Amino acid sequence: MSILNFEKLGKIIQISDCTRTILEKPEMEMTLRLDLSLGEKMLCTDTYVVYYNTVRGPAKGGIRFAPNVSLENIRNFAEIMTYKTALIGVPFGGGKSGVKINPKEYTRFELNEIVKEFVHIMSKEIDPRVYIPAPDVGTGPREMMVIYGEKHIPECVTGKPVSVGGIPGRKESTGRGVATCVRLGLETIGNDKSIKNVKVALQGFGKVGSQVALFLNEMGAKIIGASDTSGGIFNPNGLNVLELIEHKENNKLLQEYSAEPISGGELFKLDVDVLVLAALENAITEKNANDIKAKLIVEGANNPITKEADEILNGNNKIIIPDILASSGGVIASYVEWYKGKSGSLTEKEEIYSIVDKLIIDTFYQMVQFAKGNRINYRDSALAIAVKKVISAMEDRGWI
Ligand code: NAD
Repeated sequence: MSILNFEKLGKIIQISDCTRTILEKPEMEMTLRLDLSLGEKMLCTDTYVVYYNTVRGPAKGGIRFAPNVSLENIRNFAEIMTYKTALIGVPFGGGKSGVKINPKEYTRFELNEIVKEFVHIMSKEIDPRVYIPAPDVGTGPREMMVIYGEKHIPECVTGKPVSVGGIPGRKESTGRGVATCVRLGLETIGNDKSIKNVKVALQGFGKVGSQVALFLNEMGAKIIGASDTSGGIFNPNGLNVLELIEHKENNKLLQEYSAEPISGGELFKLDVDVLVLAALENAITEKNANDIKAKLIVEGANNPITKEADEILNGNNKIIIPDILASSGGVIASYVEWYKGKSGSLTEKEEIYSIVDKLIIDTFYQMVQFAKGNRINYRDSALAIAVKKVISAMEDRGWI
């Protein structure tokens, strides 16, 4: 099912029946077997690849390695990427891929072999003109480096380590964008405090969450609660983010850190100004939506709020900065890595941050203005702007 509510959207922008038919379903989806002998172990699993819409450019979207990967969720993320890239204005279409494995069950060597096999079965797809992967849940710069090593085409994959053609700042860029959205979101709700006094709860402390914590901490906000798969931790005076990152880098669980342990559910009930969702999809459902105390919710993860929960939260007058804007920092930096394919490592980290900030700030104010003009919420506004851009590209290319 599409993430778009065509009835609602049709009241804001014009969508013809033909356009709707195109946007309701992905352009292409594939299920590929990934069978691999790993010495004693035999891996037999599924790989999914979806190109949702590529009217604006090659399919762009991360590779997910997770046990719950399915064609349905990969399709959903590819659709989100279509509107994320359109909203922010980078010349990509929406794609995503995933392998149904738990990466924690494999050694570093085995993971390298799995990535190599992924490249072999996807050899026609991984191409800077077709599909350009990047890190997502369960994958990171190391996996991207293996892809580069197999293909020898620098711009066929982004999110590579800086030592092998990646760009400084890419690793931090999604978190950077999320933190910028927190700052902007606070402005719009007429926050009478400076960001220095703002209390934040953060779900997810992986690649995105840890960087959000770092940037918000630098801005002076207090992360008073955080959670990962092990549960949550709480400190009313603010957690020590640098210590926490070091703690996680030593492969320790968040709950092993010295702070008051709380459950993942209790994190949502904390009396905070901001809730950042940086874990997985469907974190907020109709069951826990009413628990949320924060006025501002920022979606660092893809699709962390179900449609039902979104309605409840809107009814509770919460301000939500949607994933297609809040988590776009990574694809903005990836765009720079892609177009500077052969010289990316010369780009300074600060240059990447300023590109991420500028695109996100400009798009944020467009979203706010369009929302005001149409008396709609930020999610509907962001989606309407993005869909309009996709439709306009389809017209320009003679698709409709
Ligand atoms: P990651 O695997 O590095 O981190 C995920 C984190 O979420 C981990 O800390 C994990 O413990 C935690 N988590 C999982 N289930 C949880 C639960 N039930 N409660 C609390 N914490 C839980 O992944 P990531 O790259 O940080 O991605 C996080 C989200 O951001 C995903 O939705 C991803 O699609 C999205 N995203 C990532 C990027 C990127 O550049 N990595 C870009 C855009 C969007």
